[in-house]
Amino acid sequence: MSEKTIFQKIVDREIPAPLVYEDDLVAAFNDITPQAPIHVLIVPKKVIPRVGEAEADDQATLGALLLAAGKIAEKLGVKDRDKGFRLVINHGKDGGETVPHLHVHLLAGRDLAWPPG
Ligand code: IMP
Repeated sequence: MSEKTIFQKIVDREIPAPLVYEDDLVAAFNDITPQAPIHVLIVPKKVIPRVGEAEADDQATLGALLLAAGKIAEKLGVKDRDKGFRLVINHGKDGGETVPHLHVHLLAGRDLAWPPG
């Protein structure tokens, strides 16, 4: 079995990190290097290395990640259309992935540029 990622250690409560949100399938915590005033990482409790490696059995977990994003956005006061937020999933080297445990970045609190870098 491969070594646990930092995110799995947070999910397993081996590394302390206040959770912004938690349900049966996912957990969310603040990014250690925030790229916006709000920068939350939403991760599945089940280890899925990256989105392109998710399988049919993971459908509920993948849905739970996006449903959690909406709940977190509401909780943090950025769900209204006049504010808003961005969700990002990085896959692999060119995608900018650095932690091999699927995670959705929720960014908000500033005018986010488009196209992204
Ligand atoms: P990626 O580049 O999409 O893989 O995103 C990984 C993210 O994890 C980066 O934004 C990092 O700042 C963040 N990160 C790395 N280690 C920790 C940690 O221990 N706690 C919270 N966020 C972390």
